Amino acid sequence: MKILLIDDEPFALKLLSRQFATLGFENVTLCGGGHDALSLLESGADGIDLIFCDLQMPEMDGVEFVRHLVRIGYSGGLVLVSGEDGRILQTVERLAKAHQLHVLGTLQKPVSSVELGQLLECKLPNAAEPFQPVRKTYAPDELLWAIAEGQLINYYQPKVDLASGVVTGVEALVRWQHPDDGLIFPDQFLSTAEEHDLIDDLTKTVLASALYQARLWRDAGLSLQMAINISMENLDALNFPDYIARLVEKAGIPLTSVLLEVTEIGLMKNPLASLDILTRLRLKHIFLSIDDFGSRHASLTQLRSIPFDELKINRTFVHGAGRDASISAIYMASLELARQLGMKTVAEGVEDRHDWDFVRASGCDLAQGYFIAKPMPAADMIGWMADWEDRQRDLFVYSDVLSAHNKWA
Ligand code: C2E
Ligand code: CA
Repeated sequence: MKILLIDDEPFALKLLSRQFATLGFENVTLCGGGHDALSLLESGADGIDLIFCDLQMPEMDGVEFVRHLVRIGYSGGLVLVSGEDGRILQTVERLAKAHQLHVLGTLQKPVSSVELGQLLECKLPNAAEPFQPVRKTYAPDELLWAIAEGQLINYYQPKVDLASGVVTGVEALVRWQHPDDGLIFPDQFLSTAEEHDLIDDLTKTVLASALYQARLWRDAGLSLQMAINISMENLDALNFPDYIARLVEKAGIPLTSVLLEVTEIGLMKNPLASLDILTRLRLKHIFLSIDDFGSRHASLTQLRSIPFDELKINRTFVHGAGRDASISAIYMASLELARQLGMKTVAEGVEDRHDWDFVRASGCDLAQGYFIAKPMPAADMIGWMADWEDRQRDLFVYSDVLSAHNKWA
């Protein structure tokens, strides 16, 4: 892994390069500014995999540098570093992501070795979710063929109860096991499915394997709620609730053990039909969750008019909320809103111990995220559950001792 560090402050550069050396990364190049870094990148002499860039640099600031990275078609990873207000970092992160750059995260200066280690551990290639610098798009025909050939498979990510540690359910997340390109993530084929009328076929495939898997786990004594992502495009046929209910009954599992996660309710093409469908799903006792709350197109009015059971707070308002007042303000407001509306709350994107302690202390009901488990193939679930049992001793006892101590502080 070749890493490039860019910062105009020699001391900051030296410090960061030491931290990398301690973490065992040896192939690190240092640059004192954006121009030098661009010359290096453009020369193509050194294939850089990962860039750490300071935002505040006199000759070329981080925003300008991001613009140049887009221009030269840089496809590696990017980490933004700054001593400025955390909101500036987040804004530049959003900007870089909107440009389709592969942003691995942000770090506040002075960079702590623990946070640097966590970021690298979470995002680098040896982790379960491979680092994919090259984004390829796929033609609709190829996707159609993949669906027909059974190349779409489900990974499952656990949701755990924050008070007890009990694993209450899993979320099915689709992957494409591509014969040549390996495991492909949904951001590389979902929009093709939605735009070319393949999303119903994709959803049917995901549903069928998820319900079958739920049945297998139930037979093995594991009653896990199965959450399935539903696209807005799936909600235009009035008989969708009957279709799902039939499938669930055929799988021989209770309707109450299925939950549908819906995003982008603000983009309903036909709001009346969607409302009809969502309400009938609830009447059939299938649970409904509003996904990615806070980030996409959900309006407060829709939240009131649709009978959701659960609200998932988007990971941008969870990860780092314990250390950033503006993130935590949005997180707490979402939590309170859900509580007032009688909905269960799920914190997505719990990535480290800080996030875990923060969401537990906030009184949120459930959590999901890399700190607990990455999405995994069904076959790995039983082994992970045994590990989770072991980890709970540390995760629960220690923070309970802390909160007992805080009561008297
Ligand atoms: P989502 O519903 O918000 O799912 C959570 C995404 O966040 C997943 O990405 C998951 O791998 C990732 N994630 C989980 N924990 C963490 C964490 O701690 N940190 C970070 N940074 N990420 C975390 P994935 O699997 O790539 O899915 C992306 C999106 O694709 C999903 O977002 C969902 O909207 C959509 N999707 C996935 N499977 C399906 C499907 O079967 N049908 C439909 N319609 N959409 C799907
Ligand atoms: Ca989801």
